[in-house]
Amino acid sequence: MSKSSNRVHGIGMTSARTRTRMIDRLVEQGITNSKVLACFEAVPRHLFVDEALGHKAYEDMSVPIGYAQTLSQPYIVARMSELVMQAPHHERVLEIGTGSGFQTCVLANLVDEVCSVERIKPLQEKARERLATLKLRNVRLKLDDGFFGWPEEAPFDVIIGTAAPHEPPKELLDQLIPDGGRLIMPIGEVDQYLTVIDKNDDELVIQKIEPVVFVPMLSGVKK
Ligand code: SAH
Repeated sequence: MSKSSNRVHGIGMTSARTRTRMIDRLVEQGITNSKVLACFEAVPRHLFVDEALGHKAYEDMSVPIGYAQTLSQPYIVARMSELVMQAPHHERVLEIGTGSGFQTCVLANLVDEVCSVERIKPLQEKARERLATLKLRNVRLKLDDGFFGWPEEAPFDVIIGTAAPHEPPKELLDQLIPDGGRLIMPIGEVDQYLTVIDKNDDELVIQKIEPVVFVPMLSGVKK
């Protein structure tokens, strides 16, 4: 075997091993949904971070993606994806905070249609390239302030937010289907909680899932 093919082979082996380690860790951390675990096995997480940070992509940590933003640690993305799958309906999902596009990609493998809004243009452009490379056809991206949701595409079965507002945004609650809609997002200013709000017959039921650390949800668009 030539040196170069040896090297390529070596990289493949390493990433298969680190990926298996990530799945084992997710199971230890309490992730049980087999579809979510299969997704983490299949989606190449290293493609969603800068090449220089690729080796960190499968570790139990968040990874910087530029513009003071981060790709969440695998556990959090898996936990939120599991909460999506446990929602009464989850065919059409809106994501606020496309970021690297990793959570978008995981969702696109789990549900029929994903709409995702990002406020920072260069991040959105990179995410768009990655999602095109992976040939995902059921994703639509929009550059906008996610506090307004995506009214033209509403209603959604699930809305998932990957940046933390102080309070659940009313526009997002309004864009959920009236019976069985679910909002999943980190909420809070100092102490953030991953929060699930279920809408049943227009009544809201709030569950605090666990303490988390997310970047803040910010207003306006950055071109
Ligand atoms: N889901 C992303 C996480 C990125 S971090 C991933 O898998 O990589 C959170 C993202 O939310 C950042 O990209 C940030 O720019 C974005 N964000 C923050 N406030 C927002 C808003 N009001 N509207 C849209 N996106 C927002």
